[in-house]
Amino acid sequence: MAGVAVGLDVGGTKLAGGLVAEDGSVLDRVRHDTPDTPDAIVELVVSVARNFQTRHNLEPVPVGVGAAGLIDTEGTVRYAPNLPWADFPLGTVLRSRLDRPVTVDNDANVAAWGEYRAGGGRDAHRSLVMLTVGTGVGGGLVLEDRLVRGAGGMAGELGHITVLEGGPRCPCGATGCLEALASGTAIARIARERVAGGQIPPGTALATPPPDELSGKQVTIAAYAGDRAAVDVLATAGRWLGVGIASLVAAFDPEVVVVGGGAMQAGDLLLAPAREACAARLIGRGHRELAPIVPAVLGDDAGLIGAALLALAAQPWY
Ligand SMILES: [Zn+2]
Repeated sequence: MAGVAVGLDVGGTKLAGGLVAEDGSVLDRVRHDTPDTPDAIVELVVSVARNFQTRHNLEPVPVGVGAAGLIDTEGTVRYAPNLPWADFPLGTVLRSRLDRPVTVDNDANVAAWGEYRAGGGRDAHRSLVMLTVGTGVGGGLVLEDRLVRGAGGMAGELGHITVLEGGPRCPCGATGCLEALASGTAIARIARERVAGGQIPPGTALATPPPDELSGKQVTIAAYAGDRAAVDVLATAGRWLGVGIASLVAAFDPEVVVVGGGAMQAGDLLLAPAREACAARLIGRGHRELAPIVPAVLGDDAGLIGAALLALAAQPWY
């Protein structure tokens, strides 16, 4: 069968696999708990790939893997905070076990490729900036119809561009990263700070739960229920998102900016302020087309679809 590949999304707790057609449709899928040793993960990836092949009477098809962590140009996982491997040559091991093309890349990169080819950026022909706004802020970059990996495979960490030097501390150790100002974690922090600072009227939605338990999701639920303070918190995070996007658009001039991740449940409550802040500060405003800032559409499937489509594209590294 032409134009089919296996895609795997290896997360800290779940491993999702799919047989994916070149238009991004998922023909078959499986889901497992992620094993807790590198060897067991390899065995599971190999068996998932072979099972799809047997079940669908296929010749060996390319395999694409997206995994959380820093992954170098050889497909070696250098470091992964939520997976049990460090300096593990995943690409080399899988290629020798499966005897077919295997692509291994960072999970945010493969998600960006998935959205570019089959999701929110599918109408783009050459370029896309993708941000995944969840607990942190992930990123991926496509330029000239190619996924940008950088010199060592670590490009696309767009959540760690600085938007406010001296601002809130980021998990990466720096201050004022986009992630520290616009992630789901940041939305919760902004809300808690406003509660602690007495800026939230007592008895309203954000002032009711114990401040330590206030989450980004609760802020979004309160905003949809019409709570003004919650809408303002999302607008603040959304404006920071727009400030970050303006820098990315200034640097890369993409056709489209796609925003996904759990925080996008807030939809336009986050994106409308982002669009406004981006348009207000972008270089050349008034004399250029503004790249649309749109929601991602593939949801949790972005990783496995993107991994498979990247394997099909079989692009050499820059
Ligand atoms: Zn950071």
